[in-house]
Amino acid sequence: EKFKDGLSKTRDSFVGAMNELVKDYRTVDEEFFEELEDILISADVGVHTVMTLIDELKDEARRRNIKDAKDIQPVISEKLAELLQKSEEESKLNIKENELTVILFVGVNGVGKTTTIGKLAHQFKQEGKNVLMAAGDTFRAGAIEQLEVWGERVGVDVIKQQAGSDPAAVMFDAVQSAKSKKADVLLCDTAGRLQNKVNLMKELEKVKRVLTREIPDAPHEVLLVLDATTGQNAMSQAKTFGQATDVSGIVLTKLDGTAKGGIVLAIRNELDIPVKLVGLGEGMDDLQEFRAEQYVHGLFS
Ligand code: GDP
Repeated sequence: EKFKDGLSKTRDSFVGAMNELVKDYRTVDEEFFEELEDILISADVGVHTVMTLIDELKDEARRRNIKDAKDIQPVISEKLAELLQKSEEESKLNIKENELTVILFVGVNGVGKTTTIGKLAHQFKQEGKNVLMAAGDTFRAGAIEQLEVWGERVGVDVIKQQAGSDPAAVMFDAVQSAKSKKADVLLCDTAGRLQNKVNLMKELEKVKRVLTREIPDAPHEVLLVLDATTGQNAMSQAKTFGQATDVSGIVLTKLDGTAKGGIVLAIRNELDIPVKLVGLGEGMDDLQEFRAEQYVHGLFS
């Protein structure tokens, strides 16, 4: 239900436009597909993905001898689901049983990184897990305090040092603390500046090195947080971060605030990094695992 609510803006504009299209055209012809292409591109589905989708739809329409525009609608949702389904298995978070799981969050300021960490801390706590957060963004003014606010809200401790201190030192402390408290999950914030790619890369590498030295297979996830409302900007951030470090999954925030929820498809097909979590609001319960089926269902019903 939450997924459906969160997608309401995308659904209204996307499905609204599709319904209009079906009414206007009635028959499936070249012009129909051109219009459909425009609708998909406006929903931020991504040019390459749209091309693939349209080609497949044309083939399918030919194969099934579909002439009537309203008969193509179920085929569209089928194809969208197929495109996303590929990622179903790999979209699960890598969580260790009876061992500490370390998750590193990366992404530029303002995308919803702190909020996502807070929401996830809340979810793990609800599952009965012992959770810790590490205030690794020592650069942005207020980042540490903001994480502490979330810590208080959800009842989870934050490991921190002074503003301006070395993030790798914070991580070292955090891992020691997690070990001594027998924590199940350690959620690590990082700085989000992108101005200097070399520095970003160095900082992330150093943080990862410290984690790996303490726990050989850590970090178990490196999640890149992207703001769905920023469209192509999010895509280019993904490329930059992908070059700076190994990203294991994407958290797509603010899906509730955009009519361009098609970006999920673009990310899946053009970046080849699984979307693992989606943010559907500002509250602590507004984070969900990404499920292709729910997404497509949320769009069309
Ligand atoms: P950070 O700088 O990346 O840590 O970003 P914040 O966590 O401070 O989030 C920036 C703003 O986005 C805040 O006002 C959050 O409440 C808001 N936000 C984060 N995630 C979501 C979401 O999924 N939906 C909505 N509507 N707002 C969100």
